[in-house]
Amino acid sequence: MNAPAPEPIIEIDSISKSFGDFQVLDGLSMNVMPGEKLALIGPSGSGKTTILRILMTLESIDSGHIRIDGEELYHMPKNGGAKDGGLVPASEAHLHRMRQKIGMVFQLFNLFPHKSVIDNITLAPMLTKGASRAEAETRAMELLDMVGMADKARAMPAQLSGGQKQRIAIARALALSPKIMLFDEVTSALDPELVEEVLNVMRKLAQETDTTMLLVTHEMGFAHDFADRVLFFDAGKIVEEGAPEDIFSNPREERTQGFLKKII
Ligand code: ADP
Repeated sequence: MNAPAPEPIIEIDSISKSFGDFQVLDGLSMNVMPGEKLALIGPSGSGKTTILRILMTLESIDSGHIRIDGEELYHMPKNGGAKDGGLVPASEAHLHRMRQKIGMVFQLFNLFPHKSVIDNITLAPMLTKGASRAEAETRAMELLDMVGMADKARAMPAQLSGGQKQRIAIARALALSPKIMLFDEVTSALDPELVEEVLNVMRKLAQETDTTMLLVTHEMGFAHDFADRVLFFDAGKIVEEGAPEDIFSNPREERTQGFLKKII
């Protein structure tokens, strides 16, 4: 008997999103399979970050459907509209549950500046999962070990380099054991000599876990090695997608060719 085909862990179905009069996404659809490593590439302003922020429920959508792990992320509100006119998560409890499935790492780290490294990592598991301090610290030390930062557990963020801060931010996002990790230009604010240490952590994560990973990046070499599938965006639409070898060595679309010529 054949095993049933796996269901996508992320299903994006005809979503639209405008900021004021500016339509960033217009009927975008895409699926992501469990464990898939995806790179989202394309010119600035093409909507890549907005997609990650929508998945993280940091932005709402105007229409369409998103299912994460089989559950609807947004619902049509009963009162006919959210503050900004978009769809909303069904309830705080629903939002809370959905957010535990997804971790996000931002361009600018966003660590809590007045908390030590280990407290940055233990805070969410203690607050949202009811973990004891001891449990949360044991897990935090494993994660710090994984990102090569175990010796900085008691340091404060201000004492760390940008690359170290970003590795802590990755450990913090992993602390809730999310099924999906979103990475938004995580190396673009770093000095060039610090980029590789962060990419190494992400390589390790991709190799050693079955976490589904979506990455917005301008590091084309990294996207090539890391991704199972590359999606090229322009003006809020997927212009072309495929295996990294196809997109980078043999792009079919003129817009993809033009973008890659400029950036590589
Ligand atoms: P990318 O990640 O591809 O560079 P973004 O998703 O960041 O693109 O942005 C897409 C477009 O949406 C840009 O023109 C940006 O200025 C606009 N935009 C993004 N967020 C907001 C916001 N909160 N308010 C108004 N405009 C926004």
